[in-house]
Amino acid sequence: MAATLEDYRDVVGLDVIEELRIVAAHVKHRRLQNINSTSVGGGVAEILTRMVPLLRELGIEASWDVIRGDEAFFQVTKAFHNALHGRVEEITAQMLDHYRATTASNLAQLNLDGDVILVHDPQPAGLILRKREIGRHWIWRCHIDVSTPDPRVWNFLKPYIEEYDAAIFSTPGFAQHLSVPQYMVTPSIDPLSEKNKELEERFIEEVLLKYHLDPDRPLITQISRFDRLKDPLGVIAAYRIARKRYPCQLLLAGGGASDDPEGEIVLREVQEQAASDPDIHVLLLPPFSDLEINALVRASTIVMQKSIKEGFGLTVSEALWKKKPVIGGAVGGIRLQIIDGVTGFLVHSSEGAGQRALQLLADPDMARRMGEDGHQHVKQNFLLTRHVKDYVLVMMALEHPDEDVVHLE
Ligand code: UDP
Repeated sequence: MAATLEDYRDVVGLDVIEELRIVAAHVKHRRLQNINSTSVGGGVAEILTRMVPLLRELGIEASWDVIRGDEAFFQVTKAFHNALHGRVEEITAQMLDHYRATTASNLAQLNLDGDVILVHDPQPAGLILRKREIGRHWIWRCHIDVSTPDPRVWNFLKPYIEEYDAAIFSTPGFAQHLSVPQYMVTPSIDPLSEKNKELEERFIEEVLLKYHLDPDRPLITQISRFDRLKDPLGVIAAYRIARKRYPCQLLLAGGGASDDPEGEIVLREVQEQAASDPDIHVLLLPPFSDLEINALVRASTIVMQKSIKEGFGLTVSEALWKKKPVIGGAVGGIRLQIIDGVTGFLVHSSEGAGQRALQLLADPDMARRMGEDGHQHVKQNFLLTRHVKDYVLVMMALEHPDEDVVHLE
C-alpha cells in the first residue's frame, strides 16, 4: 500500500512535511508526466513507483508512461548507455536510424498530455521532437554517469537535449556544456517502501535459511543488475582477499531490467567465476523481491557497490539506511553517498575493496559507527521527501524563466 505524507512525518519530522506542502501548493493541479523505458528493474523505475503516489497526494497530477521498443532498440540504447559511461561501443548509422524510427513510433502512440513532461534518460529523449507542435515544459532527467561520455553518442543526443527547457543531472560532476539550464537533483530512497522499511528478525532469518546463507558467518553483499559496469567480477576478487583471513560469505543478488539485454551474459560470467566456491551465492531474483532484498541487506555485514561508473547507485543509500557500512567504487553518485572513512570506504580497485573489507571485518565497532553515520547522512540528504521537493522547485523555476529568485507569495 502506498505510504501517505502523514506516514513520512515520523521519519523526517513535521517541518519537512509542512515545507513540502507549502512549495507543492504553488504547482498544484499541474500535470507532471514522467516517461521512461521500463516499469520494473533499475533505479528509475524504483524511484517512480514510490514518487508518483506522493506527488499525487500533494495535488500534482503525476503520471508515468513507458515507451515501447523491440529488442534491437534496447540493444541500441544499451550501447548508448555503455558509451555514455565511457565504454567503447560500435555505433552504426543503422543503429541511429533505429533509434529515430522507434522514437517516431512512440510519438505516434503516446498521449503527451503533461503540462510538464519529465523524460528520463536517453531511451525516450527523442520524444522532444513533439515540443515544437504542442509546447509545454519539457525536462530531460539524466540518471546516468555522463562524466566522460563517448562524444559520438553525446553529440547525437545533444541536439535533442538542447530542445528541452532544462536538464537535470545527479551530481555537479555530470554537468555538460548545454544551451539550456541545468539543475542538480540527487535521487532518493523511500524509507517506507518494502525495500527499506524495518523488518522483524524472524523474517530476516527465514530469508537467510531460504537462500542457504549461514547466519553465523560474516556476509558481504552486492545487490545489482548483472551489468559489467557494476563490476560483479571485481566484487568476487575483493571477497577472495577478505576470505583468506575471515570465513566470510559473498552474496551477489540481482535481477534483470526489461531495457537491459546484456544481463544474461554477465550473469553467466559471474556464475562461472563463482562455481568453485560454495560460499559465493549468486541469486537471480524475480522482480518485486523487495522484502527479500531488504532482509538480505539487513543480514549483511558489509555491502559493496563496486561500480566502475554510476549515476547514483540507489543500492548505496538503501544499505546506509539499514546502517550498513558500504564499500563503493569512487565514481559518480557513489561519491555523494559514501563519505570516505565516515559512512564507508571509496575504492579504486578490487584489491582496495578487499583490504577495506578486511579492515571492517576486523573492527565491528568501526563498522557499526559507519552504519550509524550512514543512516544520518541518508536521512538528511537522500530521502524521497527531499527529492519530491526538488522536482517541485524545478517545476516552479520553469514557470518563472526570467527570475533568478522566485518569491513565494
Ligand atoms: N534492485 C532490485 N532487484 C535486483 C537488483 C536491484 O530491486 O535484483 C533494485 C535496487 O535495490 C535499487 C535499484 O534496483 O533500488 C537499482 O538502482 P541503482 O541506482 O543502484 O542502479 P541501476 O540499476 O539503476 O543502474
